[in-house]
Amino acid sequence: MTTETRTCQNCKTSFTIEPEDFEFYEKMKVPAPTFCPSCRFQRRLMFRNERVLYRRMCDLCKKSIITVHDPKKRRIVYCSPCWWSDKWDALEFGVEYDPQKNFFEQFRKLQEKIPVMDLVNSYTTLESSEYVNHAGHLKNCYLIFNADYCENVCYASGATYVKDSLDLLSVGANSEFCYEDIMSGKSSRLFFSEDCFECLMFISQKTCVAVAIVSDAQICATSNTIFITNLIQEIYTKKNLRSCASIRMLRWRI
Ligand SMILES: [Zn+2]
Ligand SMILES: [Zn+2]
Repeated sequence: MTTETRTCQNCKTSFTIEPEDFEFYEKMKVPAPTFCPSCRFQRRLMFRNERVLYRRMCDLCKKSIITVHDPKKRRIVYCSPCWWSDKWDALEFGVEYDPQKNFFEQFRKLQEKIPVMDLVNSYTTLESSEYVNHAGHLKNCYLIFNADYCENVCYASGATYVKDSLDLLSVGANSEFCYEDIMSGKSSRLFFSEDCFECLMFISQKTCVAVAIVSDAQICATSNTIFITNLIQEIYTKKNLRSCASIRMLRWRI
């Protein structure tokens, strides 16, 4: 079997299928793809709706709710208090599996029949936290997604063990008082920064580890990234990265 170039039926770009791919499809008894790898990846991600919210009615108590399920879709949706209650029995919705029939068709029928939760949360661990999804163990949080163990956090995705912070993407590991940060952790008072870990009082920096700055004046004076990079390099060579001593040394140097 040779390499074959196909045109994606969705985005119309060309993609190749290697001989070993054909062997795999043959082994799995599935047809070769007609979508390119990017479009196939998008379709796989469609199964999980993390941040698109809809308003619809709970199919049990009839109250208006916020949910991840589009009201146009044929799903039975219960609000969290109903879904987690004993007001219904999931076993009553069970169906017999028939190995002679297509699995996915049977799975689809089951999905349309059984009630689903409005938001995918560990509902009983949430306290005063509205508009959150794929979340658990939150207190006083609002509009955060894919989050656990947060308190006083708003507008975030991928936050774990974060306190008193806003506008975050993938920030965690006991961070606090942070704003507008991406892929950072174990930091305090970190603002407009990316890939920063174990940093204290830091603004608009990228890829920094164990850096501490003590006042606004010093932040301005040390905004030269090369200067900071050199200091980090010194810490690396002294092999005391991540230690308190390294942070104290850096404070002194700055
Ligand atoms: Zn495509
Ligand atoms: Zn309800």
